[in-house]
Amino acid sequence: MIKEIKVKTALSPSQLTGFDYALNPYRGCGHACVYCYAPSVIHWDKGKWGELVEVKINLPRILSKELRIKKKGIVGLGTVTDPYQPAEEKYEITRRCLELLLMHDFPVCIQTKSSLVLRDIDLLKKFSNIEVGITLTTLDDAVRENLEPGTSSVQDRILALKELRENGISTWVFLGPVIPHITDVEALIDAVAVVRPDYVLVDMLRLKEGVWKGVEGFIRGYYPQLLPEYERIFQDGGEYYREIFDRALAMCAKKGLKCRINVLGD
Ligand code: SF4
Repeated sequence: MIKEIKVKTALSPSQLTGFDYALNPYRGCGHACVYCYAPSVIHWDKGKWGELVEVKINLPRILSKELRIKKKGIVGLGTVTDPYQPAEEKYEITRRCLELLLMHDFPVCIQTKSSLVLRDIDLLKKFSNIEVGITLTTLDDAVRENLEPGTSSVQDRILALKELRENGISTWVFLGPVIPHITDVEALIDAVAVVRPDYVLVDMLRLKEGVWKGVEGFIRGYYPQLLPEYERIFQDGGEYYREIFDRALAMCAKKGLKCRINVLGD
């Protein structure tokens, strides 16, 4: 369900490393990833995550005013929602915000799981400072369907990375959260190496408030045999993930890719 809402502010100070501002064109996210931590961050109390998306219809107007007076800084576009989720196809809030950010020459970092980002290549190409990150958690589309139901296919995301690169846009790949025994980091790095992203960022699954509920439902439904192993992993003091990170670093080195491990917990 889609609901149009009006907001009073657009840019908010960002708590995430590397961003000065966060800009979220939607409240809620139609991608409905089972591991999403956004509901706890925005204190979502409007039912099951993914079923309702609130469209900030006046956001471009508010942003336009703010950009005239705010100090220039890096904008994280889509920190608690996906800026290219299905609603964006019709509403184009992200696109209109990008037009304004471009006009004021604000640096922008986008993160998405949708190939809809390709629609805006004409704008992205004009920025003096922009990067687009595409998230991947699995190469198996059947798994992707259950884990991140509203997102673009794995193939479309890799093709999007390729097309962005071919258009001279800086790209990065977010391999995260690494879902234990489901996400194959080495296979993913191998698959994205051909499209030469600027870097790969690897992150663990953080069981922030509410996250375990979604992940547990997914594991219980599709991989119930893994439940005891999950309990072990999340009590092992990080040993499982240290090994995954070592393997990611080694694979990136082999493929000549820059690799960053998100140790900060953003
Ligand atoms: S795309 Fe991002 S914001 Fe949307 S549901 Fe998935 S993790 Fe949450």
